[in-house]
Amino acid sequence: PIVLGIESTCDETAAAIVQGCELRSNVVASSMEEHARYGGVIPEIASRAHAEAFVPCVSKALADADLTLTDVDAIAVSAGPGLAGCLAVGVSGAKALAWAAGKPIYGINHVIGHIAVTQLQFGPFPKDALALIVSGGHTSLLHVEDVARRIDVVGTTLDDAAGECFDKVARLLGFPYPGGPHIDRHAANGDPTAIRVPQGLTQGQAGAKHPYDFSFSGVKTAVARWIETEQAAGREIPVDDVCASLADSVATVLARKAMRGCEAYGADTLIVGGGFSANSQLRAKLLEYGAEHGIEVRIPRPKLCTDNGAMVAILGVNLVEAGVAPSAPDFPIDSAMPLTTICM
Ligand code: ATP
Ligand code: MG
Ligand code: FE
Repeated sequence: PIVLGIESTCDETAAAIVQGCELRSNVVASSMEEHARYGGVIPEIASRAHAEAFVPCVSKALADADLTLTDVDAIAVSAGPGLAGCLAVGVSGAKALAWAAGKPIYGINHVIGHIAVTQLQFGPFPKDALALIVSGGHTSLLHVEDVARRIDVVGTTLDDAAGECFDKVARLLGFPYPGGPHIDRHAANGDPTAIRVPQGLTQGQAGAKHPYDFSFSGVKTAVARWIETEQAAGREIPVDDVCASLADSVATVLARKAMRGCEAYGADTLIVGGGFSANSQLRAKLLEYGAEHGIEVRIPRPKLCTDNGAMVAILGVNLVEAGVAPSAPDFPIDSAMPLTTICM
């Protein structure tokens, strides 16, 4: 099937066409620069940007694929989780297109799209894969029984997401929003053993209770305290070393728990997705541990990791192929959509 995917959960307005497992077009417009000076996404600004970019994005995605709306078999749109005002723009636009063109519409879960997108690079899902989802708002380990029908949560963060932890430390170091990519770049030149950064919820104490859960708020606080102490003592902050030590701690605990989960669930494939999976330190650690444990790690290229329409379209293809009923014409948005809801 040919599916038009539409994304507007946060600061990216995006549209893409996927046919089967083939990506035919992928258009992303971002309002990120408009938010940078505020240090975070301003929902009102993001919603207005979606209203402006929606039609240009969709028409470019169709034109790039050499198609018109008539050629499309279905429309998929992110119905959550995300900023309500942003979701409302994308979902309303998608509903209008579906109604006008008489096409079925699927209101899908954006976070599950981050997992589904790996198929564009690595082909269909193997049976019983585990997925590590690391994005701006989520850090979870999921058991993917069937991407169109059933997903179970194996573990999740008890406080901050990994991306959030990076963004907060980045702000202390004076990097503009979003800080994750800046930490990545500086970490490449630093010594990961320079500063002792604790690893959240490893073995021992809470380990037994939360074998597959994560916690990054203590990591963030430890790094923040260290920076404050050094600054108070008048010492210069070794930015590269701070970044390298933070990145190493976060990447290690994510990779270790993902491997442990795969072994417990008998999964020999780990699917990785979400904006934070663009992080070089995490990618390297996952591939290293995967090779050691005999687990195939599928991390998409960075352009497919961050928010885009292709992830929405491919999940739409999965739903159409599985024969899942389309969403009702009055389906709602859900800014806090749970990870177990794949489609409205
Ligand atoms: P969600 O998908 O949970 O709704 P989101 O869509 O806002 O959240 P994404 O766009 O998937 O999140 O990811 C954005 C996050 O990824 C930000 O926290 C950003 O700092 C982080 N990020 C992007 N690239 C990198 C990188 N190279 N290293 C570290 N973090 C990165
Ligand atoms: Mg974004
Ligand atoms: Fe996302």
